[in-house]
Amino acid sequence: MKKKNLYRNIPKVDDLLNHELIKDFNDSKDHTLIKESINQVLNNLRKEIGLLKDDAVESFDINNEKIVKKAIQLTLNFKAMNLKNVINGTGIVIHTNLGRSNLSEEIAKEAYDIATGYSNLEFDLNSGKRGHRYNHIEELICYLTGAEGALVVNNNAAAVMLVLDTLAKDQEAIVSRGELVEIGGSFRVPDVMKRSGTLLREIGTTNKTHYRDYEQAINENTGVILKVHTSNYRILGFSETVPREELVSLGEKYKIPVYEDLGSGLLFDFSNYMTMDEPTVKEIVESGIDVISFSGDKMLGGPQAGIIVGKKKYIEAMKYNQLTRALRVDKMTFAALEATLRAYLDPERVKLIPTIKNIIVTKEEIYEKAKRLKSILDDFNELSMDIKADQSQVGGGSLPLTLLDTYVLSIRLDGVSPNSLSNKLRLSKYPIVGRINNDQYLLDLRTIDTEDFDLIKNSFKDILSGGKNV
Ligand SMILES: *Cc1c(COP(=O)(O)O)cnc(C)c1O
Repeated sequence: MKKKNLYRNIPKVDDLLNHELIKDFNDSKDHTLIKESINQVLNNLRKEIGLLKDDAVESFDINNEKIVKKAIQLTLNFKAMNLKNVINGTGIVIHTNLGRSNLSEEIAKEAYDIATGYSNLEFDLNSGKRGHRYNHIEELICYLTGAEGALVVNNNAAAVMLVLDTLAKDQEAIVSRGELVEIGGSFRVPDVMKRSGTLLREIGTTNKTHYRDYEQAINENTGVILKVHTSNYRILGFSETVPREELVSLGEKYKIPVYEDLGSGLLFDFSNYMTMDEPTVKEIVESGIDVISFSGDKMLGGPQAGIIVGKKKYIEAMKYNQLTRALRVDKMTFAALEATLRAYLDPERVKLIPTIKNIIVTKEEIYEKAKRLKSILDDFNELSMDIKADQSQVGGGSLPLTLLDTYVLSIRLDGVSPNSLSNKLRLSKYPIVGRINNDQYLLDLRTIDTEDFDLIKNSFKDILSGGKNV
C-alpha cells in the first residue's frame, strides 16, 4: 500500500461524530469541543503518516474507535482543571513549586465569601463614601509588628521594587556583597532592585562587610541603606556582618533610611518549640529599622502578598507612589490575609495556620500519622513499607539552617524502581509528590494531612490495578 492510500483511509469527521461512543457528546453542549478534538487527533494522525518509513506503511492501522477514544480523552482533559491539589509528601513545609502556604478551611472561607459577593473593599460604610483597601488591615499589621504604618502589595518582590523606587529612585542603595542573593527560579534580588531604577552600590566582600564599608560608601546621592536577608544560605565560619542596631545609628547619623528585605518574616514566636536564630518582625521594628518587607505566603502562612511595614512618613510616600496601583492586591488576597492576621490575635488559632502547624507538629504526632498511613496501605500486599526517622526542611528560603525531626514512610513496590513509583504516583488521580533518598521512595508525614489518607489509598489502588492514569 502507498501512503497516498493511507491518507485516503483517514475517516471523515462527520462519520466519527456518529460513532457509537461519541453520540452522547455530539448531542450535548460539548459538540464544538469534541469536533475540535477530532480534528486535532486527525491532524496528528496525518503527521504520523507523513513520518512513516515506507516499510511501515503496510502494517499501519487506522482504527476509528481509537481515534474517537483519543478525542473524548482530549475533550475531558481540556474541560478539567489543570491546576489541582497535590499531596505534599516532600516534608518541605513552604514548597514554592507546590504553592507555598496553604489556607485553613476557616480562613479560606473568608476569602470565599468576599470573592463571591460585593464587599466594602474600597467603600467606607460609615460615611458612604469611597474608602481605601489598605485601611482594612493596616491597623492590624501595625498592632502585630509594632510598626507605625503598613502597606500590602502583590508579593515581596513587588515590595522590594516599590520601596526602592520610593526611597532611592535614581539614587544609590548601599548593599553588602554578602547579601546579593538568588532566591530560586533564577530570581535575583539585585536584578529586581536594578529594575526599580536604583543604583546598587555594592560594598564589602562575600564573607565580610564592616561598618566602615557602609560609612565610606555614603555620599550625597545615597538614597537608602539596604539589608537583604540571605534567605536560602548562610556563610558560616570566617564571616562578619554589621548588626542592625549599627546600621540604624549610621542611618540616623546621615539621615538616610535603612530598609531590610526580610524575605520570610516571622510574626509567630517559635521559641517555645525550637531554637531559632531569627528575630521576629516586631523585634526588627524595635531595632529601629525604618522600612521592612516580607512575604505573606512564607513563614506568615497566608496568601501570596508582600507586606511593607515601617515609619509612617515612608509608608505614606509609598501609598502615593503611582507604582502602588500596578502592584495592587486583589480582594480575595485581602480577605485571606486579614483572616490570617486575625488568627494571630488568638494564641490557639494561630497554631492552626497550616504553615505554623506543620512546623511545630511534634515528631511523636508525625510518628502516629506514619503508623496510621502504613496500616492503611498494608491492605496492598504488593507494597513493603518501613517507618524511618528522618529530617525535613522548612523551605521557601526560610530558616535554611533548621532541620526538623520527622518520620517518613519508605515504600517499595516489587519490580518497580523508586523513580518509576514516583512517576506513577505523581501522575495518579490524586497526584502525590514524595522524595527519593538513597534509592528509596519516601513520604514525609510532616506535610501530609490525615484527611488525605483516603486519597493516598485511592491513588495506590489506581496504580496497582493498572488504572487508566498509569
Ligand atoms: C522570597 C524572597 C523574596 C521574594 O518574595 P516573594 O514573596 O516570593 O516575591 C525577596 N527577597 C527575599 C530575601 C526572599 O527571601
